[in-house]
Amino acid sequence: MKTLPDQRGYFGEWGGRFVPETLMAPLEEIDRAYHKAKRDRAFESRLDELLTHYVGRPTPLYLARRLSARLGGARVWLKREDLCHTGAHKINNALGQALLACEMGKRRVIAETGAGQHGVATATAAALLGLECRVYMGAEDMRRQALNVYRMQLMGAEIVSVAGGAQTLKDAINEALRDWVTNVRSTHYILGSVLGPHPYPMMVRDFQSVIGRETMAQFRQSVRGLPDLVVACVGGGSNAAGIFTAYVPHTRVRLVGVEAGGRGPGAGNHAARFAGGGAPGILHGTRTQIIQDENGQVEPTHSVSAGLDYPAVGPEHVNWRDTGRVSYTTVDDHEALEAFHLLAETEGIVPALESAHAIAHAAKLAPGMALDANIIVNLSGRGDKDLDEVAKVEGGES
Ligand SMILES: *Cc1c(COP(=O)(O)O)cnc(C)c1O
Repeated sequence: MKTLPDQRGYFGEWGGRFVPETLMAPLEEIDRAYHKAKRDRAFESRLDELLTHYVGRPTPLYLARRLSARLGGARVWLKREDLCHTGAHKINNALGQALLACEMGKRRVIAETGAGQHGVATATAAALLGLECRVYMGAEDMRRQALNVYRMQLMGAEIVSVAGGAQTLKDAINEALRDWVTNVRSTHYILGSVLGPHPYPMMVRDFQSVIGRETMAQFRQSVRGLPDLVVACVGGGSNAAGIFTAYVPHTRVRLVGVEAGGRGPGAGNHAARFAGGGAPGILHGTRTQIIQDENGQVEPTHSVSAGLDYPAVGPEHVNWRDTGRVSYTTVDDHEALEAFHLLAETEGIVPALESAHAIAHAAKLAPGMALDANIIVNLSGRGDKDLDEVAKVEGGES
């Protein structure tokens, strides 16, 4: 099988590099530095060491017995990315890119953040490596995620409030790109998911693919063979790409990505790029599937989970959809909240609302599968960050 993307950063007809001229050279520089780092044993062992002793890898692959028994079908396993330092998979990528920034001699990193999870991961990596850090965040998101703002500031990051547009993630990315254009000599932009211009979708996938490599080995050791089904939620698509990549060549393993169905169909109610209103377009430097109106204007999205609330999806996912290797489905807010409770009650694990979407889909499929079938769910993060939101929504204030 040919490995993607191609030289120009395309996954089939998706991806590429749609940026102003001033960003072409810096993207080339990252591409070169990344390829060099990949072949560099010293870089690899430094990253491995940090992933082991700082992040806490390998994360467990845990058989959720009580959840499986409750569902009455297939066995459900959880890949515990919620146990990573900072509480989600995002640190895998932030740390990889921060190390790469050091390799490139850049002493300053910038990032965008929506709910604050990628900002926290970046601020963490920057503090660890002694890098200057600035995080762009929509003014509305800053208000909703005040605790994460404080957390980033504690680690020495400067948080910049973005007042333009809807004051959310999309607008924060625009501002971060603007900063990068201006300060490109000193600064590396740590993008948070498998999005943006080439080489980001490839590089972020590769930094996250440790999830799938570990899962594969752990499953072989406890059960032998391969699981029947792997499920992950899809915001930009980095945790899903991280666990899917190892399994893509193994075509008998079914792979399912779960998007946010939000309040249901209709513009502004969901973030389902595949099942809902998505169409081909270009956003933030990449050609992909985007939720837009008939004039090509990006439409507002909604999800109870901030991490899935984004109008575009990583280009490699669109190619996986085209080739049929991965299928995509939706879980709505209500189902995700039910799964949030289900996992807490049966296993004593409070999942991130994003991850609860994947749990919900596994819970739909498990009862119809054989008792000796195996489902692996990527538990992308822990739910502490969502407790306030869930309490509020369930208190009827939504
Ligand atoms: C950010 C986030 C997501 C969504 O991002 P992906 O790039 O699609 O993985 C999912 N789960 C958690 C816990 C997150 O913080």
